[in-house]
Amino acid sequence: MERLQKVMAHAGIASRRGSEKLIQEGRVKVNGKVVTEMGLNVSNKDAITVDDVPITKEQKLYFILNKPRGVISSAVDPKGRKTVVDFFEHIDQRVYPVGRLDYDTTGVLLLTNDGELTNQLTHPKYGIEKTYIAKVTGVIDKTAIKKLEKGLKIDNYKTLPAKARILEIDSKKNKSMVELTIHEGKNHQVKKMLKTVGYPVEKLNRVQYGFLTTEGLKSGEWRELKSFEVKKLK
Ligand code: URA
Repeated sequence: MERLQKVMAHAGIASRRGSEKLIQEGRVKVNGKVVTEMGLNVSNKDAITVDDVPITKEQKLYFILNKPRGVISSAVDPKGRKTVVDFFEHIDQRVYPVGRLDYDTTGVLLLTNDGELTNQLTHPKYGIEKTYIAKVTGVIDKTAIKKLEKGLKIDNYKTLPAKARILEIDSKKNKSMVELTIHEGKNHQVKKMLKTVGYPVEKLNRVQYGFLTTEGLKSGEWRELKSFEVKKLK
């Protein structure tokens, strides 16, 4: 938090005295409201304008989170549950998840304030590759794998060709581990695809998003993307 006139001076609007004058003249707004008193503290989250022109250019931030179970991936939850945004509370700017993972799904999730990149990555045409490992009920067979790969109907929608392979089968426990790579992001797509072929998902983990993995990140841990990683995504 810093004083408004100091932030304005740093942004090169005017000297501190000059900025104070602009404030007194009622030409400065913080979050859309005219501010005339001196000494208001502001943070990077506040939108400051002089004569309705924004003074600060938001810094672009990019994070990868290894999302734990039991966390919602929207910015707010009407039920008050923990959201992925809560992991970034201490950061001055607001970041938003790129796409969604279900409440009980774990794994790679990007968060950013770069709306342009978010739109690009979530656009169906972009088709970024996402790899999931699912624990399913049942002993999965090759026929199911072929169906998953070829594309199948879920909710009147035919899924695009995908990659699928069996990782592990435990016939005693009647469980299997399956890896599925898709290029789309329909609602609950992986769960629906596996259920449609007869193998309901018990656990789902997204292990890869494009070239990004959770390597080095424990559940609930996050890191900032390196600039080469951001460039590679664009
Ligand atoms: N597919 C699902 O069913 N759930 C997710 O969280 C992600 C993909």
